[in-house]
This record gives sequence, structure tokens and C-alpha cells, in this order.
Amino acid sequence: MSKLSQLYQQLIIDHCKKPRNFGKPEHCTHHCEGHNPLCGDNISLYLEVDEEDIVQNIKFEGSGCSISQASASMMTQSLKGKSKEEALQIFEEFQGMIMGNLDPEIEENKLGKLAVFSGVKEYPSRVKCAILAWHAFNGAINSDGKEVSTEE
Ligand code: ZN
Repeated sequence: MSKLSQLYQQLIIDHCKKPRNFGKPEHCTHHCEGHNPLCGDNISLYLEVDEEDIVQNIKFEGSGCSISQASASMMTQSLKGKSKEEALQIFEEFQGMIMGNLDPEIEENKLGKLAVFSGVKEYPSRVKCAILAWHAFNGAINSDGKEVSTEE
């Protein structure tokens, strides 16, 4: 097993057992529900974005497979404190990576630890699990308040 896939498995297990930023905050400015009907994953994402467009707080609740929940947990860690612009750039990079359009090993990026998800591109059925929380983030920050589904 490669080093990256070992690290991937460790992080997935760790974030599933102890999801970071889990729960519903008392106050939020943006909210979005995400569903992946193919796998049965659900994510409720809550954001608190200040007037300078900085993500001051980000929390989630959800249920589903370990990839969807670990991806949500790691996403909240990496987007907290980021500006909207920066967060959306990371979203695009993450999406590019798991679609196989960005190789984090050779291309410059802001993904950091999220690069462990690069192996997901080998498993098309898991791509929707890994991207679900990110679609919910995109839906929430663009504030249309609609539900998002990986099937749309
Ligand atoms: Zn799933």
C-alpha cells in the first residue's frame, strides 16, 4: 500500500470516529442540506460568515458512509477562517482533484491534507460521497438556501 493511501485510511477512520466541527451552531448565517441518494449520505452544513466574507464558523451534521462524513469533517477544518474567495478556490481544486483534472503532487494548490482524497478518482461511485459536503458548502455560501443533490 502506498504511503498516501495508508494516510488516507488513517484519516478517514480518525475523522469518522471523531468528526470535527460536528453539530448545529446556535447562530449561523448560511445553511444548506446536501443529499447523495446513490449512497444515502446526508449533510447539513451551517456557516457563519462575517461582513468581510470570512468563514468565522462552519459546522455540520450528517449521516452516511465514512467517506462522506470524513470529507465533511476535513472540509470544515480546512475552510474555517478562510475568505469566501479562498474557500471557493479550494472547492474548485478539490473537485478538480477527485475528478482527475488536478494532480496535487505536481500542480500548485491549497489543498493541504485534503490531498489524501486524490485516490477517490479511481472509484467513480465514491466521488459523489467525497464531494457532497463541498456541494453543500457551495450551496450555502452562495446563499440560495436550496437543497443540493449530487444527482443534479
Ligand atoms: Zn457515501
